[in-house]
Amino acid sequence: MISDKIREFALGNARERFLRYVQVFTTSDEESETNPSTKRQWDLLRILADECREMGLSDVHLGDTGYVYATLPARPGVEAETFGLLAHVDTSPEQPGDNVKPRRLENWDGSPITYPDDPELTLSIEDSKELAHYVGDTIITGSGLTLLGADNKAGVSEIMAAMATLLKFDELMHGEIKICFTTDEEIGRGTVGLELDRLPKYCYTMDGGFAGELETECFDAWRADLVFHGVGVHPGTAKDTMVHAGHMMARYLADLPAEETPEHTSGREGFYYLVHSEGSVDRATASLIVRDFEADKNQARIENLAALKHKYESAVPGLRIDLETREQYRNMRDILAECPHVVARAHAALEDTGLEVLRHPIRGGTDGSVLSQLGHPTPNIFAGGLMFHSKREWIAEKALAQATETILHLARRWTE
Ligand SMILES: [Zn+2]
Repeated sequence: MISDKIREFALGNARERFLRYVQVFTTSDEESETNPSTKRQWDLLRILADECREMGLSDVHLGDTGYVYATLPARPGVEAETFGLLAHVDTSPEQPGDNVKPRRLENWDGSPITYPDDPELTLSIEDSKELAHYVGDTIITGSGLTLLGADNKAGVSEIMAAMATLLKFDELMHGEIKICFTTDEEIGRGTVGLELDRLPKYCYTMDGGFAGELETECFDAWRADLVFHGVGVHPGTAKDTMVHAGHMMARYLADLPAEETPEHTSGREGFYYLVHSEGSVDRATASLIVRDFEADKNQARIENLAALKHKYESAVPGLRIDLETREQYRNMRDILAECPHVVARAHAALEDTGLEVLRHPIRGGTDGSVLSQLGHPTPNIFAGGLMFHSKREWIAEKALAQATETILHLARRWTE
């Protein structure tokens, strides 16, 4: 059981950190080739490393590639398997992330929220239906010019606050816990340069949305790159000799199933997505991503791409098509199925917090998808924020408190 006194401390700690961390500018940059992608991410990484040390965590390490690692030693006499907690410090480049001015709307009455720095912008229950759960609670938003950064500074704050709480209250049971703050998740480079041997076998990311979410399934993800090689001839004398790579590409793409695209699919349905294409007579290129929750369905799509290659190459002499496919990440469901205790303990911790556990497949991937594949099964737990990557991003303090409390229960569950 978690007493009101502990709860109050944990929320106060998480709130103070959250309001402070979101003001540190940490937007990542897809164009950059450095690691981390932006120097400014170091600002928050250094703060976190210092605060881990001040708090009394052990083995605090800030690596050259920009990851903070720290360890909470087990309570004396407690023997338990170690687990890890991760969150990312960067925010999405889709919206401005500098000069974030968080503000708290206490005892929110349910009426549309307006923003001090953009009078045009409003946020109501119609825009974000989850708001309906928090009438009477405190809502935190940005000022209208920037995102808030709850993705994923809520997760960072919850992990830090949970560590501070476990250190302060002796009655809270826990084994060894390793924490790690990562960079560049928003640009898909959240595990580049990560020192995997500093992580325990089993981890959780605190990077989901609504309170109660536990994500254990993500896409099975492939990428396919096509190059069409044509035969260029003067158009006036091209009869029976020209092979137009651009036209061939257009026909090839038109042969893909029209209903299997992102705009026609939802839930557990998969798709082909044309990310980019360009071409002329000599050469045309197309890049696709292929997504599904079932590996065999994606295999069928990859085979279809190869069959279409043969169809056009044999129908059009002189045409050559290169097809390159590669796996990007795998549905972590199959990996997590081999260690059911990892998901079961998170499930139990969410219930201990009094939450209804919500299990939706992620139509995307997380750092945990990559980590799972690298031998560190890592489901994703909610962090509480909503409307990520937008100027209307928000979080309720209640969700911040519940996520922090979930970590406290999780710590105890790993000692049982
Ligand atoms: Zn995130």
